[in-house]
Amino acid sequence: MAKVLALATRNAKKRKEIEEILAGLGLTLHDMSHYPLAPEVEEDGDTFEANARKKATETAIAIGQWTLGEDSGLVVPALGGDPGVYSARYAGKQGDDAANNTKLLAELAKHPADKRDAYYVCTAALADPTGKVHAVVEGRCHGRIVTDYRGEGGFGYDPLFLIPEYHQTFGQLSATVKHALSHRGRALTQLRPVLRQLVGEIGAKG
Ligand code: IMP
Repeated sequence: MAKVLALATRNAKKRKEIEEILAGLGLTLHDMSHYPLAPEVEEDGDTFEANARKKATETAIAIGQWTLGEDSGLVVPALGGDPGVYSARYAGKQGDDAANNTKLLAELAKHPADKRDAYYVCTAALADPTGKVHAVVEGRCHGRIVTDYRGEGGFGYDPLFLIPEYHQTFGQLSATVKHALSHRGRALTQLRPVLRQLVGEIGAKG
């Protein structure tokens, strides 16, 4: 019988990455498309951690399942930390990757060429069905924002996010390489031992 872990996200590309990173644990991951009646969680925290905790706790209570809340984004020091926790709606509309990338390039064009360092952050929180948080992990990945789109892989800001050591963006690198280096890979790998223990405890409902 399936051991279900709910993912407090409606982003199918994010779900796919989390599934690939957490493969082999014997867990079935259900994103929020599986729970159409679950309420939308308002992402009004000032930090990635606050939002990850909120997503995990509110969702777990609403659906009565162990839940992973994940909040992530791109931080550009030259832009005062933007887009930060607003990464998904940087240009105004939630999840409009093309508009977000256009705005990022326009904002960075106002700054010197050597001020394009950036890093991704991913924070994940694991909550039990009562909403109690059992683990919080964070991962970061440093790179640079290029001036032209490179590659079709990944999602969000990936075609602009260069890994200097590889001379390629996350849009060009394979999913396997991205997961080995990425903020999400680094964060979620820390959760594997906790999840392995949980696999024996999580009920089969869901
Ligand atoms: P969240 O769903 O509120 O956590 O927003 C995450 C947003 O951060 C995404 O919509 C992207 O804009 C950006 N982001 C987070 N992780 C990645 C990544 O791995 N690649 C590209 N963009 C990312």
